[in-house]
Amino acid sequence: MRPVAASPHRRSVWEVLCVWAVAALLQGCGAEPAPARNVVLVVLDTVRADHLGCYGYARPTTPSLDAFAARSDRYAVARSTAPWTLPSHASLFTGKAPQLHGADARRLPSGNVEDAMKLRDEELTLAEALREGGWSTAAFVANAGYVNPRMGLDQGFQEFMNQRHDARTMSERALSWIDTQAPERPWFVFVNYMDAHRPYNTAALPPERAAGLPKPPAEGEPNTVEALEALYRHVFTQADPPPPEMVQRVIDDYDLGLANLDLGLSALLDGLKARGLLENTLVVVTADHGEYFGEHDLVEHSKDVYEQALRIPLIVKRPAQKDGRVVDAPISLADVPAMVLREAAPEVARRRAEKFSGTNGMPGQVAQARYARRRDLEAEWGPRFQRERDAIYVERFKLIYSSDGQHELYDLGADPGELENLFPREQTRVESLLRWMERLRLAGEGGGVLPRAPNAEELAELRATGYVGDK
Ligand SMILES: [Zn+2]
Repeated sequence: MRPVAASPHRRSVWEVLCVWAVAALLQGCGAEPAPARNVVLVVLDTVRADHLGCYGYARPTTPSLDAFAARSDRYAVARSTAPWTLPSHASLFTGKAPQLHGADARRLPSGNVEDAMKLRDEELTLAEALREGGWSTAAFVANAGYVNPRMGLDQGFQEFMNQRHDARTMSERALSWIDTQAPERPWFVFVNYMDAHRPYNTAALPPERAAGLPKPPAEGEPNTVEALEALYRHVFTQADPPPPEMVQRVIDDYDLGLANLDLGLSALLDGLKARGLLENTLVVVTADHGEYFGEHDLVEHSKDVYEQALRIPLIVKRPAQKDGRVVDAPISLADVPAMVLREAAPEVARRRAEKFSGTNGMPGQVAQARYARRRDLEAEWGPRFQRERDAIYVERFKLIYSSDGQHELYDLGADPGELENLFPREQTRVESLLRWMERLRLAGEGGGVLPRAPNAEELAELRATGYVGDK
């Protein structure tokens, strides 16, 4: 964790921790125990930070989230642990790096790359820890493809709604459940929104929200999946860069998906406020990964560990917080469950916090990509994704360890687009990072277990979200 210049409006993770530590000390000196807090944890599936107004995007994609962020702590540099849903949600729930929890794609001794490995039942999740502490727990998950009981991600949730709906419906379901809760018992609600995940939600926006945003696809134009598939085929099969209008069309659809997501998210945030719950609720809004629009010759997500797929929003509203702050120190998605426990459930944190700090003593944040989606491996561009990629961030440098020996090193301070590979020139710097990476990879061997095969309905959902081909 690097030190941060002090400023009245900017607060580092370290300062936040210090505030918490002082509070914990006071509590140990005989003050009243900290009250249990309700927790709302929101994942904006497939949302890259740089397409949000509060992270500097020019288009008004997310006015509600931007207004919320202005009254919250916004983490300027937040990263996921993986470029796709399953391993990143498993990190968000367990606090462990994917190299250690093992819920990701895996090559078996047979040589086959399995679609995905399940999170082990033995792992302790945030929902399980809160439930141990007396919290009621519920999840409202639109990503039914991988955030589901089959992959072990329902652990600890007493109620688990698992069906793709638009964001407004997801918010309504979550609020309906909150309304059934007894006021004396704290609760934990997890919501996953899929409007910015293929097929992007390009429904027409109300006029007051549509200004400054692209129009939905017109009659006769390719729909959102057709436009995405066209870009996909072009990037993977053509030697020349895609026509800019093809890229822009996909970005337009994605941005409309964000705007629809924001509209639905505002229903949840406004609903909490109208019920007077923001005073006693810790609200965390983040994402599981981003999306590529042709950068590094990649489209969609689940492929490789570049920043377009890993830089995510993280916005945290503490109970009764009124003033917004910006936290500069980098933070990982895997840091979130320990943060939630410390701030909302200090009693649970005292007993269980060590369970949620799973990077095996690594000197910086880590991420991994294991192969790619099954349909990518099946298609002619498969060989490009037949490898494992691990990333580690230390200070401003990022090392990508590649199982095929094609390692990369970037100075993100000077080269945020990861365009100049410094690996061949920086042998001294990379040697220690490579040793760390090898240690982490070895520590994680054996994590994850094979899930049961998907049934017809589950397979249809995996096809709809683009993970599995039609073969
Ligand atoms: Zn996802």
